[in-house]
Amino acid sequence: MIVKRGAVLVLSGPSGAGKSSLINKIIDEIGDCYFSISTTTRPMRPGEREGVDYHFVSEEEFKKGIERDEFLEYALVHGNYYGTSLKPVKEALAQGKLVIFDIDVQGNVSVNSRLGDITTSVFIVPPSLSELERRLRARGTDSEEVIQQRIENAKKEIQRVSEYDFLLINDDLDTAAEQLKLIAKVARMKLPTEEINEFIQKWENI
Ligand code: ADP
Ligand code: 5GP
Repeated sequence: MIVKRGAVLVLSGPSGAGKSSLINKIIDEIGDCYFSISTTTRPMRPGEREGVDYHFVSEEEFKKGIERDEFLEYALVHGNYYGTSLKPVKEALAQGKLVIFDIDVQGNVSVNSRLGDITTSVFIVPPSLSELERRLRARGTDSEEVIQQRIENAKKEIQRVSEYDFLLINDDLDTAAEQLKLIAKVARMKLPTEEINEFIQKWENI
């Protein structure tokens, strides 16, 4: 049972869309939130840090985590495993925090099936596929083969944009960050079904 007092904000979008850049820009300004650090089997990129960007583990360790039921959700993305640990999310929600996930379309489906009534989801894209390609190259962290794989995946992922509450076009970073801050504010206002029922009962009896 997950104690639900907080709220959830899911951010998805192609790799290179600017999710990390946007999160880093707004995280200190939106307050009382918890950014879920995922576990992955993908190799660490230059500049990334263990426990900050991801928990980097071997495939064997990841599979043990699956067996122990440690993940709220997990998925195979671009040939690597990525998963969200359940325990810190439970704790953050019990403290009433806004829990932010950077997860793929498969993860969004799983989170919505478990926490849909407190979840707000945003699909983030650059203005075009060619701009995505330019940003992936400019980031300089992935090989040509990996870039091509991510572009192919982006074409598939964008087909599922209608599964999200909001589409955010990350053209100018400052403008997109302001829009995301607004969405985060609204996400906090989403009430779990139990609280709505409780509110109606009280409201009728005042
Ligand atoms: P993601 O986390 O979605 O994979 P990143 O935040 O790593 O994406 O962004 C990919 C690259 O694009 C980075 O080099 C980043 O600096 C750059 N970038 C992000 N947002 C913008 C933007 N609005 N305009 C131009 N470049 C951007
Ligand atoms: P990257 O390798 O660029 O950091 O991430 C690749 C993709 O994996 C992105 O679409 C990102 O949102 C997704 N991802 C990262 N962590 C998780 C996770 O815990 N679960 C799921 N389902 N996807 C994740």
